[in-house]
Amino acid sequence: MITNEYLKGLMEDVKKRNPGEPEFHQAVSEVLESLEPVVEKYPEFIEKGVLASIVEPERIIKFRVPWVDDAGKVQINRGFRIQFNSAIGPYKGGLRFHPSVYEGIIKFLGFEQIFKNSLTGLPIGGGKGGSDFDPKGKSDGEVMRFCQSFMTELAKHIGADTDVPAGDIGVGAREIGYLFGQYKRLRNEFTGVLTGKGLTYGGSLARKEATGYGLCYFTDAMMKDHGDSFKGKTVVISGSGNVAIYACEKATALGGKVVAMSDSNGYVYDKNGIDLATVKEIKEVRRGRIKEYVIVHPEAEYHEGCSGIWTIKCDVALPCATQNEISEESAKALVKNGVKVVAEGANMPSTPEAIHTFQKAGVLFGPAKAANAGGVATSALEMSQNSMRYSWTFEEVDAKLHDIMVNIYHNAANAAEEFGMKGNLVAGANIAGFMKVAKSMLAYGVC
Ligand code: NDP
Repeated sequence: MITNEYLKGLMEDVKKRNPGEPEFHQAVSEVLESLEPVVEKYPEFIEKGVLASIVEPERIIKFRVPWVDDAGKVQINRGFRIQFNSAIGPYKGGLRFHPSVYEGIIKFLGFEQIFKNSLTGLPIGGGKGGSDFDPKGKSDGEVMRFCQSFMTELAKHIGADTDVPAGDIGVGAREIGYLFGQYKRLRNEFTGVLTGKGLTYGGSLARKEATGYGLCYFTDAMMKDHGDSFKGKTVVISGSGNVAIYACEKATALGGKVVAMSDSNGYVYDKNGIDLATVKEIKEVRRGRIKEYVIVHPEAEYHEGCSGIWTIKCDVALPCATQNEISEESAKALVKNGVKVVAEGANMPSTPEAIHTFQKAGVLFGPAKAANAGGVATSALEMSQNSMRYSWTFEEVDAKLHDIMVNIYHNAANAAEEFGMKGNLVAGANIAGFMKVAKSMLAYGVC
């Protein structure tokens, strides 16, 4: 709960200025609460207006996306790009295509991105974008026409030194290809304006794996700091998209046994350990549903509904699907079953009540801003390679990613300790991410 009078007033202001956007309120509230000891030590962040500025996006772009479906009918979607903060570098953050997208979701994601990007230690500002378009069930032609229309407007606002979008839910290699192709055609330039590109046209090795691998490197560093490791641990991972698949791959490589994965319809439980080749075939090749897993592995179980996955007994839980997927009730079920570690691959997957439940029970908790920063960090490495017109090997990128994630863990842990909240990585990540951005904003004067 926020107790500082100024921060309380600021939070009220945010709610008034952004009505009907609960996800954004949740994200801001968590950050402001963490910053209480910071503003006591550095009152200039209040006096010079840094806090009032940081909760207000620099720019919100909202546009119509008309496209023609396979039946020849005109469809209209809504597009967004929120350029939240460019204090330490060009805006950077993914595009989400999902029917649940509206301004509040993009605002919460863009706000989180400011601190996450700062935590990576790389020179990238915070932004996010997307559309309420649902790629699920659409043909490749429909997805291409939508992406081309989306980019026709977005191209006016982005650029390799201005704003560099990437993927997120519903935006993978196929969509990035269509978006990049359209940008190149409109602007007649070949620049690193998007990340997550294919390897034949400027993509980085290890970008696809980066968020999931990075999540496991972070989790491993957190566990090692407490004398533990993935070896022999039972792991539950929600989702079966980009982040979940590569978290599963790395958790298994580090000695864990992943027993469950899910999608928005339900989850599979395989007591022998998830066969990732089957999941990849279903999800990456066929764009199918997770329930098809039991056709190949009849010994596994499929259950309808998403939240049941958190009732499975495990040592390590890695939520990698979507926001607020772990409720207080799910958190209690995990704690009751003896979970030792929770690290967030998805953005804001735990509700505030769930986080509180984990912290109260002494569970090692890695918040999204820190734990899933590997994706954007590797996107920044893709930008570096594009600028140099040079490519690093998989091993080079992976080694850099590993070092970045271990540093993020230690920076967050040290910041928490410095401000009297030892072990609270939620606060530590918020503070460590905030300091660099806030100091830059101070240096610019009013901005
Ligand atoms: P994908 O689209 O590849 O996969 C998303 C997965 O989550 C799918 O299995 C999807 O199931 C499931 N899912 C989506 N919505 C819901 C829902 N409402 N309830 C239950 N399950 C759901 O996305 P990513 O793997 O890229 O992203 C997953 C999370 O990680 C997001 O929160 C994203 O913001 C975050 N993230 C992603 C990064 C990246 O590099 N890709 C970087 C940092 C964070 P279905 O197929 O049924 O929709």
